[in-house]
Amino acid sequence: MSRRPRVAVLGGGFLGLNVARELLGHGYEVTVLEAGARPGGVSVSRELGGRTVDRFYHTILPTDSALLRLVDELGLGPKLAWRRTKSGFFQDGRIHSVSTPLELLRFPVLSFPERVRLGLAVFRAQRLGDWRSIEGETCESWLTRICGRSIYEKMWAPLLRAKLGDAAPRVSATFIWATIHRLQAGTRDDSGLAKDLSPGMMGYLRGGYQGLIDALVADVERRGGVVRTNATITSLDSEATLGTDAFPGARGVQRPDPVTHDGGPPEGGAAGPWRIEILGSTNASLEFDVVVSTLPPKVLARLAQGETLRGLGGDVEGLGVVCEILLLDRPLTEFYILNLGDPALPFTGIIESTHLAPDGEFGGASVVYLPRYLAPGDVWAEFGDDEVSLRFRQSLRTVFPEFDDAWILESAVERAPFVQPIHTTDYRERMPETCPAPGLWVASSAQIHPWPVHNNQILRRAQLVAGEIVASQAS
Ligand SMILES: Cc1cc2nc3c(=O)[nH]c(=O)nc-3n(C[C@H](O)[C@H](O)[C@H](O)COP(=O)(O)OP(=O)(O)OC[C@H]3O[C@@H](n4cnc5c(N)ncnc54)[C@H](O)[C@@H]3O)c2cc1C
Repeated sequence: MSRRPRVAVLGGGFLGLNVARELLGHGYEVTVLEAGARPGGVSVSRELGGRTVDRFYHTILPTDSALLRLVDELGLGPKLAWRRTKSGFFQDGRIHSVSTPLELLRFPVLSFPERVRLGLAVFRAQRLGDWRSIEGETCESWLTRICGRSIYEKMWAPLLRAKLGDAAPRVSATFIWATIHRLQAGTRDDSGLAKDLSPGMMGYLRGGYQGLIDALVADVERRGGVVRTNATITSLDSEATLGTDAFPGARGVQRPDPVTHDGGPPEGGAAGPWRIEILGSTNASLEFDVVVSTLPPKVLARLAQGETLRGLGGDVEGLGVVCEILLLDRPLTEFYILNLGDPALPFTGIIESTHLAPDGEFGGASVVYLPRYLAPGDVWAEFGDDEVSLRFRQSLRTVFPEFDDAWILESAVERAPFVQPIHTTDYRERMPETCPAPGLWVASSAQIHPWPVHNNQILRRAQLVAGEIVASQAS
């Protein structure tokens, strides 16, 4: 090979930056193309009332082994602060603490026999190793089977509704199974970094998640990568017949029929080059030997519409989010997370990051997030910021009747169009393939299944896809 393969990574969120970092480590020439004015996607921090707060709340769990290793490699270990956080549950006008097994045993929303049944069901779910056995079953069917209808109606149904909106009835039981397994934090750590951390501990990066993004970008650039911002990709095309010096085997060869492949790279490895049109400060047409998309699947499917490709994940349904951040002059609760058992409330939960961050992080103020996850068709996606704020604050008074707008020092509404795939019972048939065409690779949160999407999984995805690219070039 006469020169290093030129790789374009589409999207400069946590996933794109990590794909770039991994490939640079293997000697590739990498350019990250990011539409936003700065890299980091949903993982960045922002200014609010003179404080630095995360755009969306982010916590690190003791079981996030890959992520903890990255934090360490980037020299951010000393910035990581651990705290035991509390969880609450709001129902029938009252807030109940559900932070310890004892409190759960006393949880008054359920009768004593129901609490015992719930405990046994959760134990059973933890012991279930093969999630495939429940993949085709909905949450409602499975939870009703293992907990009974009454517990389902009182506890699970409002939680599922709050998180998944109208998509809840279609979601696979693996969603609850995987969430229960993730929350077993601290018991299955294999990183060697967090052995002293017990379940219930949560980690926060002092100064916000931005520190991690900044360190990642600096590392990508130190390894010779280029991060191009204000670069919105508007189309993606292949010109396999041109061939390239990097892949002489592809010269003059028609790109193979772009059919779907069974997981592995298509025969012939990479063809190319791929031409990418970007709209930004400098409209340009760029050529790369390898393209790795980290864009939401529907965006990728739209960009590559000139290519009759299957396997891009165009059928994946996703949840978006609209989230109000409130900077308050006083704490709202004692809980990091307050779960909501009242289906009339429009937000998914109340997250008070002050209880996760070290004391003094927000200069005496309290930071509260009110997220609403948006299933396809949710009318809240159409509401402007003022309407979102108005409705959220009215509803906040249902939980805290004494809440007064005068407590608000500053506020902001943040949105993201695709934050996680909806794991329907047929989800694996919709998942994007890793390599839908020669030279085109997909690394996406839509490939994370059955696990919930969080940055430890995102990082592992980046490592896996980068590893497959390297292996395909070597063969
Ligand atoms: C409310 C919320 C809470 C969360 N809490 C946690 C948590 O506590 N712990 C945790 O580990 N994880 C958490 N996460 C998950 C985590 O932040 C995300 O899963 C992860 O950062 C996704 O990274 P990404 O790169 O796949 O996506 P994104 O961050 O969305 O990045 C995609 C990038 O692609 C760019 N892009 C889109 N279209 C184009 C285009 N046409 N051209 C060029 N660029 C384009 C976007 O601008 C964006 O920067 C949370 C996420 C949210 C939304």
